[in-house]
Amino acid sequence: MDILENSYRRLGISEAVLDFGQKIEEELKTRFWEIDAVAEYNQLKVIGAMQECRVGAECFNSSSGYGYNDLGRDKLEEVYAAVFHTEAALVRPQITCGTHALALALMSNLRPGDELLSISGKPYDTLEEVIGIRPSKGSLAEYGITYRQVDLRGDGNFDFEEIRRAVTPKTKLVAIQRSKGYQTRPTLSVERIGKAVAFVKSIRKDILCMVDNCYGEFVEIKEPSDMGADMVVGSLIKNPGGGLAPIGGYIAGTEECIENAAYRLTSPGLGREVGASLGVMQSFYQGLFLAPTVVAGALKGAVFAANIYERLGFEVVPNGSESRHDIIQAVTFGSPEGVVEFCKGIQAAAPVDSYVTPEPWAMPGYDSDVIMAAGAFVQGSSIELSADGPIKPPYAVYFQGGLTWYHAKLGILKSLQNLLDAGVVKEL
Ligand SMILES: *Cc1c(COP(=O)(O)O)cnc(C)c1O
Repeated sequence: MDILENSYRRLGISEAVLDFGQKIEEELKTRFWEIDAVAEYNQLKVIGAMQECRVGAECFNSSSGYGYNDLGRDKLEEVYAAVFHTEAALVRPQITCGTHALALALMSNLRPGDELLSISGKPYDTLEEVIGIRPSKGSLAEYGITYRQVDLRGDGNFDFEEIRRAVTPKTKLVAIQRSKGYQTRPTLSVERIGKAVAFVKSIRKDILCMVDNCYGEFVEIKEPSDMGADMVVGSLIKNPGGGLAPIGGYIAGTEECIENAAYRLTSPGLGREVGASLGVMQSFYQGLFLAPTVVAGALKGAVFAANIYERLGFEVVPNGSESRHDIIQAVTFGSPEGVVEFCKGIQAAAPVDSYVTPEPWAMPGYDSDVIMAAGAFVQGSSIELSADGPIKPPYAVYFQGGLTWYHAKLGILKSLQNLLDAGVVKEL
């Protein structure tokens, strides 16, 4: 134990902060055990899928040019389909990020005259321009695809009555966002999403249900595709990339939805047949293999932080004891220094760029200065330990990730050390 204390001391964590953290961690044994149990189940699910699909060393070969007959690429898509229990999947480095994957899923499965209905309220910021809520070149609105939205109820649940009223003969696709993203509503559990999908299908069974699965993958033993969703969509620089995928997005779903998406991604007629894998296959496979344990580490970090800051009297969402359906943790500090010191602590604990000091700046697209902390191997990766906070009331930070629990723990202790040293936290 002395050796461990010394190591923490060398990384700038005082005895008082470490003791406080250890006490909290001690109380979380059962929670952590539950998180590990989910990870164990999901690890077996991923290994089982890889065995069933007969993944072999030849899958890691690189292709260039058109990428015809790229065995590794095609097999990886089979593996994703097996993991998500769907008919098919599209998993490509040519899908540049989560927003792109979502835009692709929508644009390829909607036609002029169709209506898109979001039943989990306002979608993630970047989708506003995809849909045309904020006017943009090439938005769904420009193509004559209309949009409606039903907000979640005050208690965070779906508003089934309003959903029934909002469905019209034009409604072609219903979108559900699993994670709260950067809102304060609760994240939706897979079970809740399943009930909503069943409800939509009971109104008209040909309405497609798409779930934005970002930050949710492997947090539970089921995925929304196990509960009847036609498509689940996400980013490989979040959960399913396991920290190793350097780029990419996925869509897993019905054969028809995936074929549509592939025809849109490449070209009508070409679809899945083209798209060189450019040497990223090993990191895609290995990242997926590691994803269940990486997600478990990130979840432990989120639960640990919630309990630390709740104990110190700050508002945390989700709170220290509620069940988790994504990896995001919000902490409200109520002051600019709180946000800044927290983010500086996360940065200082990183394996990469630990010596730089993050500062608030006027990021494009935001209406206040924002501070971001990330010392990541993959730029912008938010499955790696990262935090950001807009410098405006209520002065909350959102943080997520951590490729290992030990790194997440160090980052959180370092944030606490900074807050204590700056006098934002008065005593432990
Ligand atoms: C991150 C995220 C997205 C967008 O993904 P990017 O990779 O940042 O484009 C969409 N929806 C949710 C809920 C997200 O968390």
